[in-house]
Amino acid sequence: MDHATCDVCFRHCRINEGSLGFCGARTCVDGKVICANYGRVTSLALDPIEKKPLARFFPGSLILSVGSYGCNLRCPFCQNNEISWSELAIDTARYFANHDLRAGAAENGAAQQEENGAAQQEENDILRTDFVTPEVLADTAEYYKRAGNIGVAFTYNEPLIGYEYVRDAAKLVHEKGMKNVIVTNGTAGLNVLDELAPYVDAMNIDLKGFSDRYYKDVLGGDRKMVMDFIEAAVKVCHVELTTLIIPGENDSDEEMAALSAWVAGLKPSPEYYTDAGCGISAEQNYQPLSGAGSAKQNCQPPSGAGSARQNCQPSSGAGSVGQNCQPSSGAGSARQKCQPSSGAESVGEDLPLTDQVEQVTNAGSTTGADITVTDQKNQVTGADIPLHVTRFFPCFHMTDRCPTAVDSVIHLADVARKNLKYVYTGNI
Ligand code: SF4
Repeated sequence: MDHATCDVCFRHCRINEGSLGFCGARTCVDGKVICANYGRVTSLALDPIEKKPLARFFPGSLILSVGSYGCNLRCPFCQNNEISWSELAIDTARYFANHDLRAGAAENGAAQQEENGAAQQEENDILRTDFVTPEVLADTAEYYKRAGNIGVAFTYNEPLIGYEYVRDAAKLVHEKGMKNVIVTNGTAGLNVLDELAPYVDAMNIDLKGFSDRYYKDVLGGDRKMVMDFIEAAVKVCHVELTTLIIPGENDSDEEMAALSAWVAGLKPSPEYYTDAGCGISAEQNYQPLSGAGSAKQNCQPPSGAGSARQNCQPSSGAGSVGQNCQPSSGAGSARQKCQPSSGAESVGEDLPLTDQVEQVTNAGSTTGADITVTDQKNQVTGADIPLHVTRFFPCFHMTDRCPTAVDSVIHLADVARKNLKYVYTGNI
């Protein structure tokens, strides 16, 4: 067979032999879809777990964070566009899809030399990656235990499009008694969750908004697939959710009320949301070393971890990823000047509210009006699922609007708190 169909996400790409699926991370070899970015690491850093963000999972700990390339969404504001879907990321994906075929095809010396020269030129034009086997990644995670590392977070690009690597590495990390975290857009089938569930301890899943229009037209996604994924994920591990507030897109009170009410109606497995299950009572044991400088000097990872040598330092930033899109020192003034006015340009403004905010219709869901914190005092419900409401800054292909007003983020967090116990604001 000269093609195969990928069953990882809603796109169901039909991939020809040696070609790439939409996300750039999957290809077809011998009639079978395989993970083309397996072990191809673009980013590796030792991050505070709060940066994932996870607020109620081993707070104060560090986690070795690893990313590859490719993504199955097309968020125009992607802070990690360099490794997700920029031209550079796509060129990198093409290179690795073709590289293996070319290596097998070149046989005589002259052809090989010419091929090597061309390959070298191409290598100069792609993202720097290191091949990090699951074994080396797990060994590296174990090595950094001494600096406060609790495990591995698969993050930066979309990890589920390369779930085979996540599964293989996470299994080894678990064998070392350490934790696995996935930071994901949640755009994958339950078949993928089933593969990973035995090895995953926590996830941060984006619930980027609560309208099909926003998911489909702005993000290139599928809201139902994300909701189904979240509904199943809260039963197999600790889950926290993130909603990035984009002015004019997903920033209405009604949308946040509907989103948080739907979350409150979920039925998580209690063991993943108790303080003990989330390492909260042991908080004092997971403080990063106060002498981060000495950790930097002493932490040489096992050989083979490549760029880990440069990036594996307890950092206040997210390593090399996303740095270009952080607010500058002048962000304060931008914050004050860029308050979206009532007439601010917004893509979704022309649509009636009923088109923007889908109503919760599942029989199992409840409305926010039924949920109060005191009702949940002695039992774990969807209201215990943490939500991070975060601030947008203009980035990549979305530079036509101001950063989200801080007041708007704070207000929408208050709206969510009517339904949820743990709501955090971010990037403010
Ligand atoms: S994971 Fe990638 S290749 Fe597979 S269906 Fe989704 S976009 Fe296509």
